[in-house]
Amino acid sequence: MNQIIDNDLFEAFANASDNIFIYATDCKTNLTRISKKAVSFFGFESEYIHNFSELWIDYVHPEDRNIYTEDISAVHNGTSMYHNCQYRVRNRYGKYVWIECRGSVIKDSTGNPDIFAGIMTRLDNQTKYDNLTHLLTGYELLRNPFNETGALMLIGIDNLRTINSRYGLLFGNKVISRLADILTKEATNAIVYRFQGDEFAVYGKGMTVDEMSEIFKKVFIACGEEDPDTKSVKFSISAGILAFTETDYTPDILSKAELSLAFAKDNSSSHMTIYSAEIEAKQNRKNKVSEELLNCIKNDFRGFYVVYQPILDSLGKTVVACETLLRWKTDNEEIGACYPDEFISILESNGGINDIGYFVMREAIKQAALWQKQFKKFNVSFNVSYMQLEDPKFVPAIIEAVEKYNVDASCIVVELTESIFVADTVMVKNSFELLRKHGIKIALDDFGTGNSSFWMLHNIDVDIIKLDQSFIRGLDKSTNKIDFAIVESVCLMCKRIGCLTIAEGVETEDIQNMINKFGFAGLQGYLFSRPVEVPDFEKFLYSHDMK
Ligand code: C2E
Ligand code: CA
Ligand code: CA
Repeated sequence: MNQIIDNDLFEAFANASDNIFIYATDCKTNLTRISKKAVSFFGFESEYIHNFSELWIDYVHPEDRNIYTEDISAVHNGTSMYHNCQYRVRNRYGKYVWIECRGSVIKDSTGNPDIFAGIMTRLDNQTKYDNLTHLLTGYELLRNPFNETGALMLIGIDNLRTINSRYGLLFGNKVISRLADILTKEATNAIVYRFQGDEFAVYGKGMTVDEMSEIFKKVFIACGEEDPDTKSVKFSISAGILAFTETDYTPDILSKAELSLAFAKDNSSSHMTIYSAEIEAKQNRKNKVSEELLNCIKNDFRGFYVVYQPILDSLGKTVVACETLLRWKTDNEEIGACYPDEFISILESNGGINDIGYFVMREAIKQAALWQKQFKKFNVSFNVSYMQLEDPKFVPAIIEAVEKYNVDASCIVVELTESIFVADTVMVKNSFELLRKHGIKIALDDFGTGNSSFWMLHNIDVDIIKLDQSFIRGLDKSTNKIDFAIVESVCLMCKRIGCLTIAEGVETEDIQNMINKFGFAGLQGYLFSRPVEVPDFEKFLYSHDMK
């Protein structure tokens, strides 16, 4: 075996890129070695192939065989030292792909051809087939004239970014490949494209929205099941679906599908959204709000401010704590009033929550320091989304602010809004341990609403549980036996594990009386006060004997 062919360097070059296949032929034995990526791409039996050119000609597109043969013959018969040719070849799935093949001959000391070696570059890569899944790319979908009637579905993998950062890119790739396999299996009467990144498209000529929805349901279930081969890949997906007719304009169809997918990712518990004008209006508003929010953050947090809502003892007499809540006013008339229930989730999806989180945290800690000098001590809490903990600088910044403003750390409470999917549980645990080591308290917000409530309790030491207001608000309606039982059991559980409980959404005296016996450490709700700005909050403190 020729030393050049069987050299570690061959392996190194062969692995260098997915777009390039390398080959080297020992001219004396006519044995060719071709990179493993080519073996898998073309479906060859081995890296080592005798009489490669005989096999290869069969892979070359019939229309391009003349160009190829002419060029390679010149190399073989010694009239040319270089091979340089562009032609189409068939991949293992029978699809033709454009490549550029370049090679050159190395002669031995006697002047006879010794090695013929070179590279094949996939020219189509961005344009026709996707490397990882071997599906058609989004570019091909864009080229589709859509001059018929049918349905289009865009599918996105939920939280691929988190999956990649937690389990690594290779695992992320496995998820993508698995989805490609499932789609190919389930969408038999449609064309599947790897649209871009974590998005796939399914194009069903003559299909209805209902038929496409059925495909989605099957794919969704399969994604949530264990991969029979690896037993490990499980994930969730979302989709936007729309019907099109032959007169629709292609870019419109695609942007409507994108819009429906974005809507499904943000709003739909069924993970699937069928396009409608109403959704488009909602999504347009969201985009406008998103842009304006980022704009305001950039302009020194223009229009952002915080309010404070008191939390009282179980008798409703003294203030034991308060919660810091974010507000935003914009002079953009098109947007008008915008409340936290709308803008917080937008900030979470556009990344703005990270910047604004520092702002809220500093406001809260600064204010807590001032109040500690002026009033009897009470806790000041602020909300933190899971995403904020992913920023490695955030927790140290909390600790730094506590030191800088010289505030009693045991009065600072971090409320973790837990509606989100907690992917990196180790990271959450470490963050909270560091905070608690510095005396800062941890509260689990909206307890009982998310999937992770009990997981969190099990794995993380928390000081306070805030029972979600949905359990409390309806208690005075006599039919609510279930909520009453939940409230009672959560309180009992908290007592056993040594955790304080706060009831949110105490709107009436009836509710206050009903929950009196459960031993809540704090009551929060409109019965006592709405969230208010500093002067009103201080009035409240005076009127509740906090001086
Ligand atoms: P949350 O943390 O559960 O905050 C409590 C929400 O309940 C507040 O709404 C408060 O005004 C409202 N509330 C308090 N008492 C009552 C009551 O008796 N009845 C009713 N119906 N509602 C009551 P708000 O201020 O609109 O905030 C909504 C959500 O936005 C918050 O829910 C929190 O998840 C999020 N949020 C607010 N500020 C921030 C922030 O600075 N950072 C983060 N990450 N999230 C925030
Ligand atoms: Ca909260
Ligand atoms: Ca809450």
